[in-house]
Amino acid sequence: MYNNLSTVEIIQKKISKKKNTPNEINWLISNFVKGNIPNYQMSAWLMAVNFLGMSISETAAYTKELINSGEKLKFENNVNVVDKHSSGGVGDKVSLIIAPMLATMGYKIPMIAGRSLEHTGGTIDKLESIPRFKTNLKLHKFKDIVNQIGLGIIMQTDDFCPADGKIYALRDVTSTVNSFPLICGSILSKKISEGISKLVMDIKIGNGAFMSTSEDGQILGNLMKKIGEIFNIDVVICFTGMDQPLGKSAGIWCEIIEAYEFLKGNYSKDLYDVVLHLFKKFNITKNKKNIFDEIIKSGSGLNKFGEFIETQGGNFNDIESNKINKPKYRFDFYSEYEGIIKYMNTKNIGFALSQLGAGRPTLSSNIDPSCGAIFHFKIGQHVMNDLPLFSVFGNDKNKVYIAKEKIKNAIIIASENTKLYNPIIQ
Ligand code: URA
Repeated sequence: MYNNLSTVEIIQKKISKKKNTPNEINWLISNFVKGNIPNYQMSAWLMAVNFLGMSISETAAYTKELINSGEKLKFENNVNVVDKHSSGGVGDKVSLIIAPMLATMGYKIPMIAGRSLEHTGGTIDKLESIPRFKTNLKLHKFKDIVNQIGLGIIMQTDDFCPADGKIYALRDVTSTVNSFPLICGSILSKKISEGISKLVMDIKIGNGAFMSTSEDGQILGNLMKKIGEIFNIDVVICFTGMDQPLGKSAGIWCEIIEAYEFLKGNYSKDLYDVVLHLFKKFNITKNKKNIFDEIIKSGSGLNKFGEFIETQGGNFNDIESNKINKPKYRFDFYSEYEGIIKYMNTKNIGFALSQLGAGRPTLSSNIDPSCGAIFHFKIGQHVMNDLPLFSVFGNDKNKVYIAKEKIKNAIIIASENTKLYNPIIQ
């Protein structure tokens, strides 16, 4: 497409609160992918969008350019080709659990997921802690796997949403994640490229989410529905709470193990409730809870999880035996006080884990697959000081110490009664 403005002029236009045209957005994204626009200019435009937003037509044009930067998957009949995505949270391993469960029911889930973003965890970083597991398959191979076993999970690749891959990594380290149109475009470009007919979108709300209030969650939900309609995909919006980490653990390998344990029937109530809540949004005719429980009880969800790991190059035995990714250092923190947990600053916990090695402070930072934390008590539970409040672990002693201090300061214990946290909002 022809565009007569320079990159600086496109950025200036955004800063002066004018709309960027589809041509300008096309020019910006396509040249960024080709390497003609440097990271610093793209970061400046992203920051301008972060502060000033985008209109519906700009968001649609941005989403289209992210999609068109790569190829699209096509399934002959896509009625049962579906997916689930989350707007990002701490300890959120739902995708790893729900995708194999849905696949046991004949759904096809061609999931394109992302890495850790700011203080939130990423499915891809977790899966890459499994030795030899491939997250960057070629399009035809990925499609074959989805057709063969019902699911696959890969990241943005050179074939598939490369623009989102590059921009996603840049947003992670430039504090430009928390923007309605950028989140919407990032998620929907991946999902539309998958060729699905329906997306169940879990918008996280709370102090550990990008959307801290229900109002913000609602705005993101409405935007995603509208953009979904433009691209002919049914976006079903759900809201779940992120005022505490989801499940027992947050980190890298420990979340793979928690997903595996879930499918074996060992789960915490909050995680069970969220996975079931999202599961019910798919077109499963009746007795949804019974079907859900049966997939776990019969072991079919677990078998599908194992098949998925092996098909993408991993060894399921590594997960079953849980002998790899052992952290060198572990700290069990005991509270000085007895009482009930009243508050968890989940964003601070997420940043503590990110700095420990679950995320990337810079583009070239490495993930520590062994790192993470286990929360032995959560909101509304009575803390007893003969059990640790939390355990934190990783391969760098100093980082484990710093994370311990941060997580300790992020948890408030009080004497008054507080209700157990219910993550189901709507
Ligand atoms: N998940 C994504 O894929 N992109 C975002 O921007 C946020 C969450």
